[in-house]
Formats: sequence, structure tokens, C-alpha cells
Amino acid sequence: MTHPEPLLHLPPLREVIAAHGLSASKALGQNFILDEQLLGRIAKVPGSLKGERVYEVGPGPGGLTRALLRAGAEVVAVERDRRCLVPLGALCEASGGRLRVIEGDALEIDEATRIGPAHIVANLPYNVGTALLVRWLGGEAWPPWWRSLTLMFQLEVAERIVAAPNSGAYGRLAVLAQWRSAARIAMKVHRSAFVPPPKVMSAVVHITPAPAPDGVAPAMMERLTAAAFGQRRKMLRRSLQPVPGALDALARLGIDSARRAETLAVSDFIAIARLLGSA
Ligand code: SAM
Repeated sequence: MTHPEPLLHLPPLREVIAAHGLSASKALGQNFILDEQLLGRIAKVPGSLKGERVYEVGPGPGGLTRALLRAGAEVVAVERDRRCLVPLGALCEASGGRLRVIEGDALEIDEATRIGPAHIVANLPYNVGTALLVRWLGGEAWPPWWRSLTLMFQLEVAERIVAAPNSGAYGRLAVLAQWRSAARIAMKVHRSAFVPPPKVMSAVVHITPAPAPDGVAPAMMERLTAAAFGQRRKMLRRSLQPVPGALDALARLGIDSARRAETLAVSDFIAIARLLGSA
């Protein structure tokens, strides 16, 4: 039997929300998805999850969690809203031991030790989504502890993650998401799919780690992109001035210092960071 029976006989999410008084909190970025078909499609984005460990941030009433469990995953979920713990407890029982819920703040949890190797799948609270993404993409250890990221963002943020050079959306997030990872928009999600509907459209982004280029320090990549895109309208000779050695590196690579950061390919940032080492 692929699925334990109880997971197929759960009350509708709308009833769970009403029964536990889960009125959506704006402060916690709560926009719930109740459409179980859509949730099933999101759970398929990382590929087969049968027997795989999944880390879910913000399960809320547990809609995506159900879909992940039905896909055969073993789920560790971190939720900040105590009101959700009772309905999630019921889901733990129905899961036959495949769901563990941690009450806490995803920004503070020590993931490498408490979660371990896992796919991350989350309908992220928008107010902490970018901070979590930057943390997951950063760090010295590569490949990272996570195996893939399947994350819901506002469409505008998703477009910044996958953006190509010479576009308004291209910036620090694109370079950080692409220099040692592959990022794509897996699906767009209409605002009406959420309760309550947010003002903007959303999209699911799928990111997998790629081999890290040799001789590039992650901290240098972050420093370089922060300087370059911190003043994106300025020429590189101005914006990169505070990074020691950066202007020399441009000259050695034959990159015109009158260009602006948004015209540089990800491979250009890699080449500059490599020349700068870990200084
Ligand atoms: N996964 C549910 C769904 O798809 O319907 C809920 C998604 S809702 C957009 C975001 C969830 O993240 C909420 O349940 C909220 O309480 C939770 N949350 C907000 N900030 C959090 C944080 N710092 N750490 C953990 N969970 C958080």
C-alpha cells in the first residue's frame, strides 16, 4: 500500500481552519492554500519524494504537509504559530510517524543538526522568504545540507531569482541563486489560490545545487554582489571602489569599468571573485 489510509480521509482544510480558529495573521505572512490538487502538484516539483526527507517551513493548517506525506515523504516541519500545533498533531497521528513538527522560528533553527539532509519544500511566509533563501544559498559548505529547494515566492521575487543579465530583475539575488545552483520557475500560482488572496501573483521556484566553481570564496561572492548591486545605477569603477583589488581584477579580465553591474554575466562575477580570492 502506497499511502496509509488515514491520510486519504482527512477533513477538508477549510474545516480544519474553522475548527481551530486559524484566522490568517498578516504578521506571520499567512496566506493558506486549500486546493489539494494544486498542493499535490507543488509536492511533485522536486521529483519523487518517496522515502525522502523533506523540511517544510510554516506548515500552517497542514495543506502542503498532507500533499508531501501523500507523496511518501518523511516531513520535518517548523511552525511559529502555536494555534497550528493541534491540527498538525492530528496530522502527525495520521502520518504513521512520518511527520515531526517543531514549534519555533525557522530563522533561528540550527538546520544542519536538527533537520539533516533534506529537500526543502515550503509555501514561505513572504516576510522571511528572501532572508531564508539567502541563508540557504550562502554558507561555506557546498554541496549544502539541503538537496533541493521548492519554494513559493511573490512572482516578482521569483523573477529576480531566475533573471538573466541586462534585465531590470537581474541583481544580487540572481547571481547568488545561479553561481553554484540551477534555478527555474516551476509554476506560476494565481493570487486567488490563496486564502486570503495576497495582492500579487506568486510562483514556485525550484533550485538544485550545482558544482561550485573552483577557487571562489562564498563570502567574496556576497561582498562583491552587495557592492556591485548596492549601487546598481553606478558604473563599476564607482560601485566596486570599496572592494580592495576589484578594479584591478576588472582590468585583468578586460571588463570595462564604465559598465554597470547588471550587464555582467554570472560567469563574470565568478571570474572577478576568483581573482580576489578570500581577501
Ligand atoms: N504551508 C501552509 C499553506 O501552504 O497553506 C501555510 C503557508 S503561509 C504562507 C506561511 C506559514 O509560515 C504560516 O503558517 C506562518 O505561521 C508560518 N511562519 C511565519 N513565520 C515563520 C517563521 N519565522 N518560522 C516558521 N514558520 C513561520
